Amino acid sequence: MKPVQRGYYTREELEELGVFPPREELEKKRLCVIECVEEIPCNPCAAVCRSGAIIKEGLCKPPVVDWKACIGCTMCVAACPGMAIFMQWIEDGDGYVTMPYELLPEPKIGDRVQLLNRKGEAVGEGMIVNPTYQARGDAYPRWVVTVKMDDPDLSYEVRAFKILE
Ligand code: SF4
Ligand code: SF4
Repeated sequence: MKPVQRGYYTREELEELGVFPPREELEKKRLCVIECVEEIPCNPCAAVCRSGAIIKEGLCKPPVVDWKACIGCTMCVAACPGMAIFMQWIEDGDGYVTMPYELLPEPKIGDRVQLLNRKGEAVGEGMIVNPTYQARGDAYPRWVVTVKMDDPDLSYEVRAFKILE
């Protein structure tokens, strides 16, 4: 089955496409990971990036990230209508993922969360460390939430979360 029919890409497929920054770069700073690999006419990500770190060679071409230019501002996470952009990094042996979030309850620092992979399956537990409510151009603001997890390898899998009551 093709990823488009399946509805998600696997980590292995994304690795083949070169979506992830090198691990040593993820250990240095927060970096943008764009999992938008379909050819669709869209470009808010490139338009919002003031660092010129998101390159689109044509309106329908998938975006490519220049990780050297990325300053980790998260504006692209807030702006992407497809919720296809994440931030990822590794610090002191812990993994971190920044994700768009449009559900209830509202996220708070210290909330425990169930970590979900691209298929929506539970893969562990983590904690919210930085929820921000961000403007995104002409669209409604959206929560952009950073979650910390003990296993840095999980940061390659976690793309959603559920707040535990
Ligand atoms: S995080 Fe900021 S600097 Fe990096 S690609 Fe996104 S908008 Fe550009
Ligand atoms: S804004 Fe999102 S959906 Fe649109 S091209 Fe950029 S990454 Fe893809």
